[in-house]
Amino acid sequence: MEHVRTAQPAPTRSAPRLEIRNLTRRFHGRTVVDDVSLMIEPGQVTCLLGPSGCGKSTTLRMIAGVEMQDSGEIWVDGKLVCDTVFRVPPERREIGLMFQDFALFPHLSVAGNVAYGLTGSRDDKRARVEELLRRVDLLQFIDGYPHQLSGGEQQRVALARALAPRPRIMLMDEPFSGLDNRLRDGIRDETLTLLKEEDTAVLLVTHEPEEAMRMADEIALMRDGRIVQQGAPYNVYTRPVDRASVSFFSDAN
Ligand code: ADP
Ligand code: MG
Repeated sequence: MEHVRTAQPAPTRSAPRLEIRNLTRRFHGRTVVDDVSLMIEPGQVTCLLGPSGCGKSTTLRMIAGVEMQDSGEIWVDGKLVCDTVFRVPPERREIGLMFQDFALFPHLSVAGNVAYGLTGSRDDKRARVEELLRRVDLLQFIDGYPHQLSGGEQQRVALARALAPRPRIMLMDEPFSGLDNRLRDGIRDETLTLLKEEDTAVLLVTHEPEEAMRMADEIALMRDGRIVQQGAPYNVYTRPVDRASVSFFSDAN
């Protein structure tokens, strides 16, 4: 009997928002980021989780473009952003950044801070600033200055500032570790809500399993420069791949 073959449509799946391929970085002959590969889709939060010194910040800095890799590639929406010969400069990568000590500009008002990376007409900028401040529930401080705000409020302004230009990718390096425990859970939840609404691809670096469990869609567990396990938070937490992972999760508790 004859088989009838129907033509299969080409897969329509688009390129991931962020893809890093085999990133490697050495300092003084020591490999601190070792063949790291990751893919992140818009609306997805991936946590790069691991102990201090394992290479998380270096990975993030290479994606941001402030550190060069020794080998490997960075792709955004299917376009090459950086390999060892070609490099899009950091300011053209459409990346939002949030670090623990990435302070607000003290001499600028709250509105001035949030508008900082925006282009366009005065009215458009004002509308975007108001929209974001409303969403982080700080519209009443629009004409205030950073020193008039609490640490948690400043952090929410920093988030609004990072998201204002609609970055394709948000890179967050331990953004909540300067906050006291009492505030942290609330701010983590608010941040997550806003990130999801903005539909950006998020890479969140943390050494705290609890934070990764609370915020991540996917965890990439890193140790000694390598990703040793990657998957849904529950799976990574309940099925550690080796003894070092078991002790990482249990030491943290
Ligand atoms: P993490 O963010 O996971 O704590 P880092 O990426 O900051 O780790 O650092 C990984 C390793 O690389 C550490 O041992 C650190 O001391 C080293 N390192 C980072 N940046 C530099 C640098 N510019 N020069 C030399 N060593 C560095
Ligand atoms: Mg770090």
